[in-house]
Amino acid sequence: MTVSTLDKDALKQKYAEERDKRLRADGNAQYVRLEGTFDDLAADPYTPWTDREPVTDHVTFAFIGGGFAGLVVGARLKQAGIDSVRIIEKGGDFGGTWYWNRYPGAQCDTASMIYLPLLEETGHMPSEKYVHAPEIRDHCGRIGQQFGLYDQALFHTEVTGLEWQDDAKHWLVKTSRGDAFTAKYIGMGTGPLHVAKLPGIDGVETFKGKAFHTSRWDYAYTGGSPDGAPMDRLKDKRVAIIGTGATAVQCVPHLAKAAKELLVFQRTPSSVDVRNNEPIDREWFDSIASPGWQQRWYDNFVDNQSQGFPEEDYVMDGWTELSRRIREKVRAMPPTQWSPETLLEAFEDADFEKMEEIRKRCETVVNDKETAENLKAWYRQLCKRPCFHDQYLQAFNEPGARLIHTDGKGVERITENGLIANGEEYQVDCIIYASGFEVGSDYTARAGFDPVGRNGVALSEAWAQGMRTLHGVHVHGFPNAFIVQPSQAANLISNVPHNIVDHANTISTVVAHAETNGFQQVEPTLAAQDAWVSLVLSGQGMMIGNTECTPGYYNNEGAGLTEKNRHQLGHPGGAKAFFAHIAQWRDSGRFDGLDFT
Ligand code: NDP
Repeated sequence: MTVSTLDKDALKQKYAEERDKRLRADGNAQYVRLEGTFDDLAADPYTPWTDREPVTDHVTFAFIGGGFAGLVVGARLKQAGIDSVRIIEKGGDFGGTWYWNRYPGAQCDTASMIYLPLLEETGHMPSEKYVHAPEIRDHCGRIGQQFGLYDQALFHTEVTGLEWQDDAKHWLVKTSRGDAFTAKYIGMGTGPLHVAKLPGIDGVETFKGKAFHTSRWDYAYTGGSPDGAPMDRLKDKRVAIIGTGATAVQCVPHLAKAAKELLVFQRTPSSVDVRNNEPIDREWFDSIASPGWQQRWYDNFVDNQSQGFPEEDYVMDGWTELSRRIREKVRAMPPTQWSPETLLEAFEDADFEKMEEIRKRCETVVNDKETAENLKAWYRQLCKRPCFHDQYLQAFNEPGARLIHTDGKGVERITENGLIANGEEYQVDCIIYASGFEVGSDYTARAGFDPVGRNGVALSEAWAQGMRTLHGVHVHGFPNAFIVQPSQAANLISNVPHNIVDHANTISTVVAHAETNGFQQVEPTLAAQDAWVSLVLSGQGMMIGNTECTPGYYNNEGAGLTEKNRHQLGHPGGAKAFFAHIAQWRDSGRFDGLDFT
């Protein structure tokens, strides 16, 4: 399929019509949190709660969040000789998103070789190109053990207050378990996708059957296990799943095999391209795993998504394929024709071709013609999280599986006994909410705490007009505090752990410099922060925030970027430019823009 055989105008028109069907006035407000009436759905089904005495001591570094961010920052600090590191985590163990998401089929979507952090440091060889969740969770435990991060960690603990005490030059940390301890430095890595949400459908609280969110999978009800044991308790059950995003794409194949009947309620189809997962061969791994290999893989993945012409593509997957296609188109043009417009056109053409292939795949794989038609995604590939799977579309060929296509309207109502969609009631034993996580809200609203910096200024006040940082990590007015998240930095969404590892390198370098030289505090200057924010705002976000896209959390449910969340762009030169800038900034040892006192 080449773009010359496609009617681009007709496709654009179709994309616009499909988007318009889905636009709704309530945007992010259509969702509700797992709290109040839904408290039970938020409980941790995986680790029993244990009582403990409140902690009231002092540590050098306290990190909020025990996912990849906390683990990697903790590991790097330990490597830099900072021994007193405490991680505070609301789950019952390390893992963050991988602690909570134990749904059947959970698996990383970015190649394990670059997705799993600290592979070189731990010596772990991933078993598959895209490993499954239990192996990722074990890896988190491995990092925790190897770097001694369990010793001081506080699990099942939520931070409720963070306050900078200027006299003592430290932070006071308060938690849901009555802890009140101090820390010279704090780090925050609470992740963008940790607050589970339910669709606020009328009647959602009235359902009398079993219901749970995919991030709180109830194996006691379904049978089976995260390791892939079949869910034997579903064989006489009629199960509904709401949502067809990246999570549903991974768990639907397992449900379709296990349940007597599975009804998949779809509002917007995901684009589901081939996965081609395969085991990793020990001999091959040993041949490439020479010192520095993981950084080389990171760099190569980034190179392959930038505008250069790298000779090799180590990862070779759906993330790099789009860039490969764009490059081929650009190479085919005489350099005299290269311009921002022709590049954008090459990008658009490559996207049309790819999406047409993905839509054709529905027809090839799914037996029922109407179902195949309804599974087609009518938007550009990066409008929503691209999915890759070799059993999802196939699941609709299982005798008990049925797609309930709602043509953009979604489930209308939930009753005591089931769900209403397209005006019809479907009675079910169980509803599984694959309805995702809160994204569009303010950082502090999602974090559950609002750090109070110098002069009693809260982070929500400092960021009232939008996020302001130096390098996405340091905030003026918040000494000795570090944030780990991708915005105002590389913003490499295709491989979030790379952003984390890089920030961890920065944080450990800065803290080691402060400790070695006996400084009490480190803080970005206002001038450096302002200059950085201006640089970030001078760029364009590519698909993120694009209102031509179908609504979803990538574009603020169709509303596009507000003036405030426009600040969450990355470096204008892209991930490669950010990583190059920051490596040089770190290596210079001057740390321009930071004040050490
Ligand atoms: P999403 O937010 O992507 O999906 C939520 C789904 O719920 C959408 O399909 C949405 O439809 C649907 N929905 C909401 N309300 C209704 C309604 N009233 N009726 C019917 N459907 C409804 O959540 P996910 O948990 O799937 O994924 C979240 C993110 O987590 C991913 O984008 C990805 O970043 C990450 N993830 C990563 C994985 C990996 O790396 N392996 C695996 C899984 C998730 P609509 O599209 O119309 O809004």
